[in-house]
Amino acid sequence: MKVTMMHGAGGEIMGELLQTLTKFTHNNAGGIGLEALDDGAVIPLNGQNLVFTTDSHIVRPIFFPGGDIGRIAVSGTVNDLAVMGGRPIALSCGMIIEEGFDIADLARIVASMDEALGEVGANLVTGDTKVMEKGALDGIAINTAGIGIAEKVIRDNGLQPGDSIIVSGTLGDHGIAIMAHREGFDLGEQITSDVAPLWGMMEKALAAGTIHAMKDPTRGGFASAINEMAKKSGVCVRVKEEKIPIRRNVRSAAGMLGIDPLEVANEGKVVMGVPQGDADAILAALKSHKYGKDSAVIGTVTKGTHVIMETAIGGERFIEPPMGDPVPRVC
Ligand code: MG
Repeated sequence: MKVTMMHGAGGEIMGELLQTLTKFTHNNAGGIGLEALDDGAVIPLNGQNLVFTTDSHIVRPIFFPGGDIGRIAVSGTVNDLAVMGGRPIALSCGMIIEEGFDIADLARIVASMDEALGEVGANLVTGDTKVMEKGALDGIAINTAGIGIAEKVIRDNGLQPGDSIIVSGTLGDHGIAIMAHREGFDLGEQITSDVAPLWGMMEKALAAGTIHAMKDPTRGGFASAINEMAKKSGVCVRVKEEKIPIRRNVRSAAGMLGIDPLEVANEGKVVMGVPQGDADAILAALKSHKYGKDSAVIGTVTKGTHVIMETAIGGERFIEPPMGDPVPRVC
């Protein structure tokens, strides 16, 4: 069997590949390790929780409406730390560059990474650069790893019956922005990616109440993230279709493309489960930050299994875990 593009698409098919790629017997440094398949690892160190994560970036095109590969490379890692409850401290950057790549574009990517780091008070402290022959690589690939410190670690498996489900804003923006841009759609108003580093917003939310579980809905989108959270937590999630925030232009482009906006990547959003009594305070904290102003409570957690959507016309359907994100090379 050979690797296909779907093996990198963040859904059920990628899960099959991960069965091979996670066969490490040395996989846990005393805390939360590789076997948990959470957004990052946690290593206990002198009474502190060191959060550690890594992410590689191959988005096409490298400059797109609302962002670029540099902003994603920092935000992707910062957000995986943030959804574990970790304040981002330091990042590494490994760049693999194709011969012939424009150095002015590299400077633009670095400036964009630096701006994203500045937003959350993190620093890029170590790196590596390799160059491959023309044709051996499509432009550039960037890997970042990051370490953070968590006062309280938040997992993706802690949903409890009675919890409220909150999303921190509109869903589907990044994936649909990339796809619409590639297809050359002109919808009047341009669809822009939501790519953003979220620690500043998360710091406010963490201070406002208890968060039982949290995840960033990247590849495979909300559908993948919420199914993973429900399954790992052993609960059922019920969401109301009309409460799910989706931009009108994202909805219409998704319709034209035949893509479910709930199955495409977000790069600046968080999904969380919080005790019902804390939902108002956490929602207010999220809304007080520029990246969370469209936050909404969209559902609740009950006993049972599966993710169920109550539709606007009064029906019910499952939100299934997608086979993979329908947009290739989205991040
Ligand atoms: Mg993640």
